[in-house]
Amino acid sequence: MEQQRYERPLIKRVENDMPNKFGMKPENFPKTSIDGVKVHDLIEKYGSPLFVLSESTIRNTYRRALKAFKNRYPRVQFAWSYKTNYLNGVCKIYHKEGSWAEVASRFEYEKVLRNGVPGSRIIFNGPDKTEADLKKAIQNESLIHIDHLDELYTIVNLTEELDKKPRVAIRVNMDTGIYPMWDRFGFNYENGQAWDALNKIMASGKMELVGLHCHIGTFMLSTKAYGIAATKLSDLALGIQKKYNHQIKYIDLGGGFPSRNTLKGSYLPGQDINPNIDDFAEEISSALLRANFPPDNLPLLILETGRALIDEAGYILGTVISNKRSATGKRTTIIDIGVNLLFTSYWYDHKISPAQEFTHFSEYTTVYGPLCMNIDVIRDNALLPLLNKGDHFVIHQVGAYNMTQWMQFITLRPRIVLIDQESNVHIIRQAETLENFSHMEDTPEHLKTFEL
Ligand SMILES: *Cc1c(COP(=O)(O)O)cnc(C)c1O
Repeated sequence: MEQQRYERPLIKRVENDMPNKFGMKPENFPKTSIDGVKVHDLIEKYGSPLFVLSESTIRNTYRRALKAFKNRYPRVQFAWSYKTNYLNGVCKIYHKEGSWAEVASRFEYEKVLRNGVPGSRIIFNGPDKTEADLKKAIQNESLIHIDHLDELYTIVNLTEELDKKPRVAIRVNMDTGIYPMWDRFGFNYENGQAWDALNKIMASGKMELVGLHCHIGTFMLSTKAYGIAATKLSDLALGIQKKYNHQIKYIDLGGGFPSRNTLKGSYLPGQDINPNIDDFAEEISSALLRANFPPDNLPLLILETGRALIDEAGYILGTVISNKRSATGKRTTIIDIGVNLLFTSYWYDHKISPAQEFTHFSEYTTVYGPLCMNIDVIRDNALLPLLNKGDHFVIHQVGAYNMTQWMQFITLRPRIVLIDQESNVHIIRQAETLENFSHMEDTPEHLKTFEL
């Protein structure tokens, strides 16, 4: 039998933490395996820290979301938001499930093409599209979402030399009752900018106006805002029909649905209070069906959902480096995962589970990363059981944005593995090495040698 661990006795001030409406819920259970693969084995084989993605969770979450919309509205298409997680191994799961691609830069656009997605299934968003980008997008028959008038005029110019009619939509920003309003992208609905842009597109006769787009925010907790957005875009679509006798093909409501994470400062856990995909689907489909589109000719509803589809499928596994007491006696635990890898720890209270059995005693703990930086805090105040040096743990719901917004700072970025539906483990991104970086650098001749 394994020898029992000694835990130092401790006198602890009672912290009157607020119970939530379900009582005091213990935050932690051991998380010893992911999709049938032992956490300890993963770390032993692939190192620590280690990002892990679950193919089953990705597919199940996607199918659930698609069903939530399809049950309520007949014509739905998802387009995977590349910036949320653009690992090829991840994107291809979405494409295999039938998802188109949504990109916000030429880098992402090229990545999508290399992943084998037909140009006509790419939605090109963002304010920074060069003439060359637009030319390529036009030649590939991609869906170009125009952000500003300069882009619109560039496209008009390009049509002189290209014999293709660009397929375009405009991005619309609007008041949906959420403040601050995201009004830096696209054309405003309320002040008439959107109509001005639409009139210019229609008057030019050079482009095919195929859709209307908005993306009203991210981690939106209001379902009503989406109902308002759907209503306003429908209003524009019906206005175009009336004025120009032209029918747009789709309404694209962007992304922005929340995952089940808990925002910092939230009183209740995210999984209990964040609206789920059915709530959003209900609001959006009701608004679209309420609009006066001919029932036999409803616009296609496009969704560019990122975060809500992938967050749950991602984990990061790590190891405890040390435990200390702060000057005031509070327990602090140092782990090998810093904010350079876990960008979202600035926004979320990420759930942390020990990867082995633990005793019932727990204590409020500050969890620090390994960086020599005061801001390297993964959790300010997590109620955690004692984790000893060398113990492993799992941080949950990290699939969105971390693997794209992470930065190479002080430490190198670790491996990423995907566990497939048969519990086989695949490396989908190698760990960075010093070599990767020396490759990109060059030292001027006169600085190459020195004596100390
Ligand atoms: C980032 C982004 C998305 C995805 O947003 P989520 O909040 O991750 O769902 C979709 N569309 C556009 C235009 C975006 O910029």
